[in-house]
Amino acid sequence: MAKPRLSTSYPDERGYFGPYGGRFVAETLMGPIEELERAYRKAQKSRQFRRELEQLLKDYCGRPTPLYHARRLSEELGGAQIYLKREDLLHTGAHKINNALGQALLTRRMGKPRVIAETGAGQHGVATATAAALLGLECVVYMGTEDMERQRLNVYRMRLLGAEVVGVDSGSRTLKDAINEALRDWVTNVETTHYILGSVLGPHPFPAMVRDFHSVIGEEARRQLREQTGRWEPDVAIACVGGGSNSIGLFRAFLDSRKVRLIGVEAGGSGGGLGEHAARFEGGSLGVLQGTRTLVLQDQAGQVAPTASVSAGLDYPAIGPEHVFLYERGRIEFTSADDARAVEAFHRLAHTEGILPALETAHAIAEVLELAPRLGRKQIVLVNLSGRGDKDVESVMAWDRRHGEQAAEDQEDPS
Ligand SMILES: *Cc1c(COP(=O)(O)O)cnc(C)c1O
Repeated sequence: MAKPRLSTSYPDERGYFGPYGGRFVAETLMGPIEELERAYRKAQKSRQFRRELEQLLKDYCGRPTPLYHARRLSEELGGAQIYLKREDLLHTGAHKINNALGQALLTRRMGKPRVIAETGAGQHGVATATAAALLGLECVVYMGTEDMERQRLNVYRMRLLGAEVVGVDSGSRTLKDAINEALRDWVTNVETTHYILGSVLGPHPFPAMVRDFHSVIGEEARRQLREQTGRWEPDVAIACVGGGSNSIGLFRAFLDSRKVRLIGVEAGGSGGGLGEHAARFEGGSLGVLQGTRTLVLQDQAGQVAPTASVSAGLDYPAIGPEHVFLYERGRIEFTSADDARAVEAFHRLAHTEGILPALETAHAIAEVLELAPRLGRKQIVLVNLSGRGDKDVESVMAWDRRHGEQAAEDQEDPS
């Protein structure tokens, strides 16, 4: 019997990737989730839906995004040829619009006039507010008040786009709490409202649906690589992993090509202790969080642990269930980069290629800096440049100031 294809055989009908995933929600949410699944299945088969999405991704968002051979960086590192998939050049500055637009179109098909979303750094909120403005949908975005303070510019950006931003003051006042609040809104307003979830998380069908909307990244990259190098596949593909949407979007096109190494990079934060990072593969354990069974950073009593990272977009205690499945199948490797390495990679890409990557993306670049010198010059490393770094300039400035002062003090006082 032929082995099932990893790219298309999962999840199963109940939404499981092996033992991971599923649908762990309150009874009141079963109705809307089943409705969503039916609507999505129908939309997938609809030529009109696919054509409209394709057209908007092209004319409105700027797809296909370029595949760019980073010659100077490749030369400097003295190893593999590095190719960057430029999702940072999409409208709103990151891959997130691929999914937000797909789900917004689906909302209209379901005849619902209102969307809600959660957001951490604000990127998914901005993408959702943008898609809602484009399609004339009412939009409410839930955001932890802690995050609202850290990301004031994105809050105002969402308001400019016509969205209402609702601050969430419970728990750690961050992303996890915003998701809880969005789920609560959804239960109350299912008749009129669709919840546009921002990554490959949550109950089935979200992990599969969000993955599908991002698969365009890897499909394009494959074709572009062929045009530019004559090869269909890189030797290695690398992406940063928060919930896991940009990574699976790139990796999916190569899942069935066992020769391609796939590497996901998590946030190593400031240290290895629980609470200091967001590396689920280094300290996570099996649990259920926000509708899905997956790896979760939690203490021994099952209390979800706080997380930390210089990049808000990687700062979440759980990871998409499909990633855990693919890791156990030996298909994706995971590593992490800590804050210092990510910021260093941010500077390196800025200097050598004139590109400011998002701090999330900088984690993937940090892994490239390690790996590429150890590979041959004919080998190809494909990196998902998931977003642009304009939003992070202030964070990097603060980091540099802090660490510049530290370095100066160390010099004055070598004891
Ligand atoms: C949100 C975000 C991420 C992390 O989310 P994934 O679902 O893991 O892709 C990574 N990069 C950028 C630029 C983001 O905005």
